[in-house]
Amino acid sequence: KEVAGGLDADELARLHREHLWLHLTNHRQFDHQEPPIMVEGNGFIIKDALGREYVDGLSGGVWAVNVGYGRETMVKAISEQLRRLPYYAGSLATPPYILLAQKLAALLPRLPKVYISNSGSEANEKAFKIARQYFREQYPRRDKYKIIYRNRDYHGTTLAALASSGQTERKLKFGPLPAGFVEIPHALCYRCEFGKRYPGCNIDCARALETVIQTEGEDSVAAVIVEPITAGGGIIPPVAEYYPLVQEICRRYEVLLIMDEVVTGFGRTGLMFGHQHYGVDPDIITMAKGLASGYMPISATVARKSIFDRFLAEPEDTSGYFRDISTFGGCTGCSAAALENIRIIEEERLAEQSAAMGTYLMASLQELAGLPVVGEVRGKGLLVGIELVADKKSQSPLPEKYLAQVVAAAKAEGVIIGRMVRSVPELNNVLYTAPPLIIDKAGIDKIT
Ligand code: PLP
Repeated sequence: KEVAGGLDADELARLHREHLWLHLTNHRQFDHQEPPIMVEGNGFIIKDALGREYVDGLSGGVWAVNVGYGRETMVKAISEQLRRLPYYAGSLATPPYILLAQKLAALLPRLPKVYISNSGSEANEKAFKIARQYFREQYPRRDKYKIIYRNRDYHGTTLAALASSGQTERKLKFGPLPAGFVEIPHALCYRCEFGKRYPGCNIDCARALETVIQTEGEDSVAAVIVEPITAGGGIIPPVAEYYPLVQEICRRYEVLLIMDEVVTGFGRTGLMFGHQHYGVDPDIITMAKGLASGYMPISATVARKSIFDRFLAEPEDTSGYFRDISTFGGCTGCSAAALENIRIIEEERLAEQSAAMGTYLMASLQELAGLPVVGEVRGKGLLVGIELVADKKSQSPLPEKYLAQVVAAAKAEGVIIGRMVRSVPELNNVLYTAPPLIIDKAGIDKIT
């Protein structure tokens, strides 16, 4: 039976084996099993080339498809824009870019300057470049350039974004990475790096930031980057006091606070943006994935006006602008997709839906908390993880091979979930789910 391009599933699989070089994939596995090929989606259901259907507990594999599959208005918005004007360089504005910037500024009024690019990694690279150039414009005689990051966060695949990522396995064999990136501990209470217990821990994980700024020298530190709720590093929502303290430390040492909302943005955690759970006021926010729900590749780096103003100079000043460019940053069809995506999220109140379904999912998963292998269930909204342990008392992680078995078993039952993939050696023991925000209770029940 034809699946696509006049080819059946077997022929597609043969071409797959012959030509593809997939992300994060050991291709030897396809010597023994059919490579999965996804063909179509509707709502929160995805179908493969063999006609099997799955509840997509991962929103497109990497928590991106917030509004779900099969959205006709997305297709219409994109195709209408492509018909009118498919492309013009982002250094010259087009109406969808202008309207998207206005919309993002309305969502985040304290960050009204909007820089568009193509991927989460790039959005973070832009944030680092903005931070470095900002301080070089501000203090030409100092060299305030270092970026601090946490050891479980992930900020992308390009070399500087990778240098700012804490997941050591992902960095292996790619060095040397760019210099000037400094690591601090994470904020996961279940495995407190300070051997403490909340409350009464003095929020030492946040204070570690201050220690590092002092050790590195405050004149050398430009920014700290965090995922408001760490996603791939183990689903880590910090305690309420954490970000206010991080922010206070940043302000005291004049260090920019960059929040990477690539996963947590656009309703994923039950509010429009993840940082909004914490009453924190970042200087720069980056976003991608849920910005256009994967219908088109687009990301944004949004900043305070006071940061933007540092880049202003007299017209004859040949270096007086943000010295960065990207061919597809500002792409018309991508901006149209993002605009329609945000309209859907707002009109259908998908952030609230994510909060309600997330509460239901957490309650369902808490019923598993008594099992001997469940160490902790944690998350916010529809971003939820289960930490699996071999022994509850010692919290020794359940070996990775068992998690792989659970993911495979879930798939055989028609559910796609994820697991940490060699993020922190010996600590790859978190299963997670982040379904499209339109999922219903029956879908959640199946995931549970
Ligand atoms: N930031 C976070 C928190 C991510 O999870 C990811 C990707 O998974 C990225 C950045 C990088 O985004 P992209 O893969 O679009 O470059």
